[in-house]
Amino acid sequence: MAAANSVLIVGSGIVGQSLAVGLARRGIGCEIVEIKENFDIVGAGILIQGTGMRAFDEIGVGDDVRGVGCTERTRVTFRDVQENIVAAIEADEDEGPLPVGVSFERQALHEKLAELVAAEGVPVRMGTTVETIDNGGDAVDVVFTDGTSSTFDLVVGCDGIRSRVRAMVFGVEEPEYSGFVAWRYIMPRPADLTEMVWYWGRVTTIGVVPIAEDLIYLAGTSAEPGNPRFDRAKLPEIYRQRFSEFDHLIPDLLAQVTEPDKVVATPMEQVILPPPWHKGRVVVMGDAAHATCPFWAQGASMGLEDAALFVRFLTESDDLADVCGRWSERRYPRCMMVQKGSYETGKMSHSHEGDGPKILPPPVREMIQKQMNERGQALAAPY
Ligand SMILES: Cc1cc2nc3c(=O)[nH]c(=O)nc-3n(C[C@H](O)[C@H](O)[C@H](O)COP(=O)(O)OP(=O)(O)OC[C@H]3O[C@@H](n4cnc5c(N)ncnc54)[C@H](O)[C@@H]3O)c2cc1C
Repeated sequence: MAAANSVLIVGSGIVGQSLAVGLARRGIGCEIVEIKENFDIVGAGILIQGTGMRAFDEIGVGDDVRGVGCTERTRVTFRDVQENIVAAIEADEDEGPLPVGVSFERQALHEKLAELVAAEGVPVRMGTTVETIDNGGDAVDVVFTDGTSSTFDLVVGCDGIRSRVRAMVFGVEEPEYSGFVAWRYIMPRPADLTEMVWYWGRVTTIGVVPIAEDLIYLAGTSAEPGNPRFDRAKLPEIYRQRFSEFDHLIPDLLAQVTEPDKVVATPMEQVILPPPWHKGRVVVMGDAAHATCPFWAQGASMGLEDAALFVRFLTESDDLADVCGRWSERRYPRCMMVQKGSYETGKMSHSHEGDGPKILPPPVREMIQKQMNERGQALAAPY
């Protein structure tokens, strides 16, 4: 018998939805409350790397989500401003230890997961959250903002970087600004673009990510000390100016960044919640526990691993304290490895001394490639 049979999931993001499908498919009753009234995710794509696809596969939704993503990826190249390849990550379906990563329009991934949640008959209450959580004894008593209340074996906070569950149960842990801002825009795909390319400039980077046969996601990152506020009307102009040092593919793409409402400029923040990531019968996972800078594009994947491993442990044991303890112990070091590594990559790729453009000589390129290979091996280890 599973260690919990009634689970409240707070938050219907990638992690909450995946957890719900994983639990429901194994006969564990669950329901979701989501604070938003509806979803309209503008302007953003997401790359779910092999780590996340492996977790989706364990949950049992891998092929469903592949059906709405861009699965054609062969490799990613990182280049300096002169087009020299700094490092390359090959996606080799036959020989690699992980499945090939898939890129998505976020809205399409969200809608597919919502469809799978509905197909499992999991109740989802939109526009609702938790008002109080009484986590004292053999069950958790929850009062909701719609005035209703219920009792659960377990509550899981999948409510993102500003998690209310984390604040209510673990104390206040404010996200920290990393010093970097992400700039995102979805636009038509150039006909001859066959792979994902990432350019490293002086204090910015910019990536071109195919997310569908006819769409790309232009993803820039810039060092922005002091977390400045930008005037929305000027966002396209600021976006084009920030990345004007790049040549080759980029100027034509930047010329298409014209609509303020389609620019998504996001300050990158981190959350480092000390372990354990459970207290009594309440657990936090995904960004609620370990929001990460996206330089490794591993944030959602780490959350998906959280969910897949939690479902596995929960179905294998009838001792909830043991499940939560083993899960948190196993997840913390891996998520911290990603969080620290991703931040270090951000620092390294946004620093440049001197006035000239950033051109990386062969020994530096070799060192970066070696580090990327080591990272790949660490991430391919079982979660
Ligand atoms: C610029 C940028 C680019 C990124 N790119 C990538 C990438 O390419 N690959 C990758 O793997 N990761 C990427 N990430 C990280 C990734 O977006 C997150 O790690 C992932 O979305 C976390 O999923 P989650 O379900 O934990 O949280 P979220 O996606 O934030 O979902 C949380 C959900 O909870 C809801 N919610 C919030 N508060 C409450 C409440 N009180 N009650 C009920 N519901 C609530 C929210 O509305 C939301 O639906 C990126 C992050 C950023 C900032």
